[in-house]
Amino acid sequence: MRVNAYAAPAAGRPLAPTTIERRDVGPDDVLIEITHAGICHSDIHTVNGDWGPQPFPVVPGHEIVGTVAEVGDEVTTHRVGDRVGVGCMVNSCGRCANCRNGDEQYCLNGMVGTYAATDRDGTTTQGGYSTHVVVDAGFVLRVPDGIDSAAAAPLLCAGITTYSPLRHWGAGPGTKVAVVGLGGLGHMGVKLAHAMGAEVTVLSQSLKKQEDGLRLGADSYFATSDPDTFTELAGRFDLVVNTVSAPIDVDAYLSLLAVGGALVNVGAPAEPLSLNVFSLIGGRRSYAGSMIGGIAETQEMLDFCAEHGIGAEVEVIAADAVNEAYERVLASDVRYRFVIETATLR
Ligand SMILES: [Zn+2]
Ligand SMILES: [Zn+2]
Repeated sequence: MRVNAYAAPAAGRPLAPTTIERRDVGPDDVLIEITHAGICHSDIHTVNGDWGPQPFPVVPGHEIVGTVAEVGDEVTTHRVGDRVGVGCMVNSCGRCANCRNGDEQYCLNGMVGTYAATDRDGTTTQGGYSTHVVVDAGFVLRVPDGIDSAAAAPLLCAGITTYSPLRHWGAGPGTKVAVVGLGGLGHMGVKLAHAMGAEVTVLSQSLKKQEDGLRLGADSYFATSDPDTFTELAGRFDLVVNTVSAPIDVDAYLSLLAVGGALVNVGAPAEPLSLNVFSLIGGRRSYAGSMIGGIAETQEMLDFCAEHGIGAEVEVIAADAVNEAYERVLASDVRYRFVIETATLR
């Protein structure tokens, strides 16, 4: 079927309305009528060519919420009318050790990204800035009642990206967690860590968003531009989740960890980082990374959010405002996620 979409025609060019072809609904597929698509910073990096050549035209969007419009004959997990979501991946091999372990995002044969990737049938995937999408049922999540659709969309990337490391490294009652950066990812990290029962600190460049941070669930808020912050907080945290994609002074952040603590990057700077190994061995500390989460874990995150009344803080826009929204994301002028109301594409 031919559907309306917003696409980047070439690297660095503004997005424009277009139509794209969606595949026929196969026996294991779900056709989703999209209602909302979040704007992730990755969308901007991709269409700007920051991450290498892309199969233009590219329809971005991997924070998708919508309603099931049709299901294939073999699909038993979703029904027409269900509210569902799709995140950063739409397929994986399903057979490797990591897939079998529920870590489809780390598929040894390469997970299939929701857009600008080659699907297992050889076609190029196109994302959520569109009216409809056809996705393998195994990569379609249930959006529980109790979360607004617009607020749910960013959970599919920003939510799971922060939820997974918080869970993996044991954020909970009695633990001290710091979230570096209060943007799209960081604001979800604060909400989730707080709901898990951890003591939450925001480490932001300035105190500009302090009021917001405390409202979202942080117990304290420090400016990283103030050198006293690193002295005062030395050795304090069990877990530091760094959501910032700019290079950081790794040793300075490792010094904030308690014995056995972990510094986990979910932001990915383009340049290699260096660190002094003594920063690790002087406290049995770890420096790690984490990328989104598996499908089962993403469902667990959505259920957790519904149970705790958590959604993203969003600014809902029409599709024709997407280029302006990109400018504002690049200027850090969004609190905290833009979400496209895709009905404006119909
Ligand atoms: Zn994303
Ligand atoms: Zn696999």
